[in-house]
Amino acid sequence: MRHFAVVGSGPAGFYTAEALEKAYGEQARIDILDRYPVPYGLIRFGVAPDHQSLKAVSKRYDKVAESAGVDFIGNVSVDGDVSVAELLDLYDAVILATGAPHDRKLGIPGEDLPGVIGSGEFVGWYNGHPEFADLDPFLNGTHAVVVGAGNVALDCARILSKTRVEFEGSDIVGHALDALDNSSIRTVTILGRRGPHQVAMTPKELGELGHLEAAVPEVDLADFPPVEADEPLEPGLRKSVTILRSFADLPQGKPKRMVFDFFAKPVRIEGEGRVERVVVERTELDEQGGARGTGDTYEVPASLVITAIGYSTSPIADVPFEGGKFVNDAGRISDRLYAVGWARRGPTGTIGTNRPDGYEVAEQIASAMPAGSSGDKEGAEGLKRLLTNRGVMPTDYDDWRKIEETEVANARPGSPREKFVRPHEWMSVLGR
Ligand code: NAP
Repeated sequence: MRHFAVVGSGPAGFYTAEALEKAYGEQARIDILDRYPVPYGLIRFGVAPDHQSLKAVSKRYDKVAESAGVDFIGNVSVDGDVSVAELLDLYDAVILATGAPHDRKLGIPGEDLPGVIGSGEFVGWYNGHPEFADLDPFLNGTHAVVVGAGNVALDCARILSKTRVEFEGSDIVGHALDALDNSSIRTVTILGRRGPHQVAMTPKELGELGHLEAAVPEVDLADFPPVEADEPLEPGLRKSVTILRSFADLPQGKPKRMVFDFFAKPVRIEGEGRVERVVVERTELDEQGGARGTGDTYEVPASLVITAIGYSTSPIADVPFEGGKFVNDAGRISDRLYAVGWARRGPTGTIGTNRPDGYEVAEQIASAMPAGSSGDKEGAEGLKRLLTNRGVMPTDYDDWRKIEETEVANARPGSPREKFVRPHEWMSVLGR
């Protein structure tokens, strides 16, 4: 028998557990650990609440969690309650699937002013992440700036622009829905430091913006190269650029504007006691396709700034870490220690990208310790004993089902669930 610990219950963790289960069958026990009592990581706390079809992938993860060789062990913080070294003593291999929850910093003056927040914080707030339940983003001004030209920037801009009715069917948490409903933000400016041909926004996500009830996207066609220049672009990007161009033809006149400002690099954030404006430098593309400042600057008013410029992984004691992720060679960090997903590759790719990633690492493990071979590790039994000695109360998959049932029962009409946002609420459902 082999024992494997997968640390993190987001997509990367679940695909890896699925792959290990397939590779070993009854020859392995796989424990998926999470610091929260509830599973699914990015699916629960990252994917936009109005993108329920993307969240449906958790049904597949349910099947993995329900399979005989896999257990969910929640409410256990690796590096807090138990160390990686201790897990390596208890398990044949440890796979870090801890994602990339920390916002990258812009590294410009004024970034720490009140009113400047990272997309991870904002997304966590509207998705019911317990760490950000009290974020209280400032929505009483009129102008928000979102920095970045990726899909997370689009999520943030769209959520800021939707009406209450447009959140029907979503699982946005009640506190965020009420705050957004009362928001006085009327303009959201999206700052891309390069041009329309360099966006990291995908067509489906851009396309949604043309159909918002109260907001209309705006572009300046002067930012675009001649239309013939779109021809050699990779098809997905070409589609995105075509959609962006089409925004120029949309009738204006809705109460809210979503302004795409390209070749616009923030150089300073200013305000008396809180953010009031972003000073932006006009850029042009350099020979390598990077953003080169032209020296021309201008101001964009901002009562709220959300930076959506990527994420980094949380470091873990004694695990080599560089450039925002664990140092690894094709997923292998060191003997019996691996990384998958964003903790391995950095914060890129879709949910599905994590599947081949997890399967590849599972294959490596299976070739290092073939199915049928056995080790001398104790696995979950030893872990639970250690946790009990430390006063940690782990949750299991049945506990999660109880929490889920209560969240579903608490849902407002039309919504799939009303999430609990505080750990003590989760635990009180379990009578603990
Ligand atoms: P991303 O796709 O890497 O985009 C980050 C953006 O930030 C880029 O436009 C980048 O510009 C910009 N940026 C980076 N550093 C900057 C700086 N110092 N100043 C100004 N701009 C800066 O990252 P993401 O939006 O966080 O998304 C992460 C991953 O999740 C992506 O693969 C994304 O597609 C995926 N995702 C998918 C969905 C969906 O499918 N619905 C939703 C959300 C996220 P440069 O290109 O110039 O570096």
